[in-house]
Amino acid sequence: MSSKLESVIARFIRQDVQSMHGYAIQPSVGMVKLDAMENPFRLPPALRQALGERLAEVAINRYPGPRIDDLRAALAKHVGLPEGFGLMLGNGSDELISLLAMACDVPGASILAPLPGFVMYEMSAKLQGLRFIGVPLRADFELDEAAMLAAMAEHQPAIVYIAYPNNPTANLFDDAIVERIVDAAPGLVVIDEAYQPFASRSYIDRVAKHEHVLVMRTLSKFGLAGIRLGYMLGPRALIDQVDKVRPPYNVSVLNAEAALFALEHDDEFDRQAKILRSERSRLIAALSAMPGVKPYPSEANMILARVPDAAALFAEMKARKVLVKNVSKMHPLLDNCLRLTVGTPEENDQMIEAMKASLS
Ligand code: PMP
Repeated sequence: MSSKLESVIARFIRQDVQSMHGYAIQPSVGMVKLDAMENPFRLPPALRQALGERLAEVAINRYPGPRIDDLRAALAKHVGLPEGFGLMLGNGSDELISLLAMACDVPGASILAPLPGFVMYEMSAKLQGLRFIGVPLRADFELDEAAMLAAMAEHQPAIVYIAYPNNPTANLFDDAIVERIVDAAPGLVVIDEAYQPFASRSYIDRVAKHEHVLVMRTLSKFGLAGIRLGYMLGPRALIDQVDKVRPPYNVSVLNAEAALFALEHDDEFDRQAKILRSERSRLIAALSAMPGVKPYPSEANMILARVPDAAALFAEMKARKVLVKNVSKMHPLLDNCLRLTVGTPEENDQMIEAMKASLS
């Protein structure tokens, strides 16, 4: 690095950014990729062909326009948007999480979330210069109600995130506890339903009872992680405020067209989710039969499993070309835990075989 470049970085890139690690993405070429909760199924060839034809007609010479409104309308219909509610789009829910931190950056503001949880809640807070308050879950991965209520009373967080189901523990929190936390929250509560296609319940039915709750979803786990489309709904007056910090044209016309196409064919994605839910049960049964392995119940397309030695098992599975996520270092509650994404039946067989061989 030249001395000019060094001095530019040292003087003008934030100190905290210089010392932080970016969001880590594991190299995965040639691997059975079961580390990022992607839907493993591609569209059937006829649908791929039809999508290609649709995308060919998109006016990429223009900024995104009316098709974005069409997509918001299609999503509103898809979720059954309550009267008086608004819906905004993000380039993945990751972008919405950043925009929320930006919009709520009042003096002294903090963001609160249970831990272990999705890392972007903390990262968005830190990047925006907000305090992050992490409240440990109980040992059974349920919300620690007393600790959450005490932390909210003390810190008065601008935003409380509840991932429903949670990542990486894959469970749905108890509804009565969630409701008491929602009632006590002084600011916004964001119910993050990224894994909704695999869950037995959704908060959508209850959202209209509150004026400070937003529900965030994504098409990533639905089957479109590559197109980066997240959305968030809530009382229109609140959504309108957050929407002001959104960069114009944040969703590409190609993404929007692909998302519209996917919603028109949601039966195909429902069929895929159904297979994944049934594969999840099969995987949990197979994992339970392995000596020393304890899979936890899952309402998502991932399974958290405690194993005898996570670092060694991760490395051995990787050597057998199966890539999972070692979450052991994320939080003390996850000591010796691996997070396994549910793949196709063939991929899951490969994972089971790699795990058995690595454990023996
Ligand atoms: N919320 C949770 C709980 C997640 O686990 C993830 C991604 N793994 C996201 C949001 C981000 O999803 P997106 O692909 O829409 O940015």
